[in-house]
Amino acid sequence: MNILETKALKKYYSNGATTVKAVDNVDCTVREGEFVAIVGTSGSGKSTLLHLIGGLDRPTEGKVLIDGKDIYTMKDENLAVFRRRKIGFIFQSYNLIPVLNVWENVTLPIELDGKRVDEEFITDLLKTLNILDKKKSLPNQLSGGQQQRVAIARALATRPSIVLADEPTGNLDSKTSIEVINLLRYSVKKYHQTLVIITHDEKLAQMADGILRLEDGRIMERGE
Ligand code: ADP
Ligand code: MG
Repeated sequence: MNILETKALKKYYSNGATTVKAVDNVDCTVREGEFVAIVGTSGSGKSTLLHLIGGLDRPTEGKVLIDGKDIYTMKDENLAVFRRRKIGFIFQSYNLIPVLNVWENVTLPIELDGKRVDEEFITDLLKTLNILDKKKSLPNQLSGGQQQRVAIARALATRPSIVLADEPTGNLDSKTSIEVINLLRYSVKKYHQTLVIITHDEKLAQMADGILRLEDGRIMERGE
């Protein structure tokens, strides 16, 4: 079953007389439980595509279906709720709250959604990401790789069906990058989630089940 589908998806930006086709007629599908890497040079449209897939930015034309639901038919406020419940986001910067410890950072999205924190699940999640012994630590007491693992735990804490990551290892050295992607991959498989990451690191892309190659907003190749 396809968890994600885009249909003739377009995002155009006009700067006066010129139009930038950031995402240009993209049709793609991602199966439930699959790990897909989006690769392409800088400016090829990767972030724009991920934002559209994640319901963060409305397309110029075309559709995004998540779990069969045409997300851009929703009003902004309904889309915001859908996004919070269904999608987990990870970015290059960890965006942890400096005054909250690891446990508090990870459980914050659950608290903000007014839900009860399942302590057993969060403990398992922190253990899976190898940061359980850091649960009382503040972000500035952690290495970059550890901070990104906390950000991953926060993204997975709400049990989203799909996890989207934009250059999640952009601030990490290559050895730490591989460790982090390995743990991320292991975690999403364990919790039966779908994962889409952007990377320009070919070695990391090869760890995915499938690769989407973008060039000038278009998909050049859908490979293994
Ligand atoms: P990537 O993530 O692959 O580096 P982006 O999706 O960020 O690429 O950008 C794709 C193209 O769209 C680039 O040419 C970029 O300059 C342009 N672009 C992205 N966001 C905007 C925006 N808000 N306004 C105008 N142009 C944009
Ligand atoms: Mg980008």
